[in-house]
Amino acid sequence: MAKILIVDDAEFLRVRISKMLTADGYEVVEAENGARAIETYKSASPDVVLMDITMPEMDGLTALKEIRAIDPKAQIVMLTALGQESVVLEAIKSGARDFIVKPFERERVLGAINKLVG
Ligand SMILES: [Mg+2]
Repeated sequence: MAKILIVDDAEFLRVRISKMLTADGYEVVEAENGARAIETYKSASPDVVLMDITMPEMDGLTALKEIRAIDPKAQIVMLTALGQESVVLEAIKSGARDFIVKPFERERVLGAINKLVG
């Protein structure tokens, strides 16, 4: 089964998404900021990354660019909030495959992942 890296500084959100995905049979790894996401991407080689944008230490847009530089095939889906349209646009230009606006439904998250790994 595919491995998903969940990157978000909000622990409750990582837990929520993690439960959602493991219940659906996915393997899950987590990181709480962009810098940790890069380390975890290298060590765990996930199939898909769900990436928050606003995080301490290193934001999601920077982490997206660095991961795509390491692995041009990296499949990264941005987790966004309303009002982040310009960042989302830059993320898409920088290779993000999709974006999910918070608050999100289970079906939206699973749908985005299935589209990439299915
Ligand atoms: Mg955040």
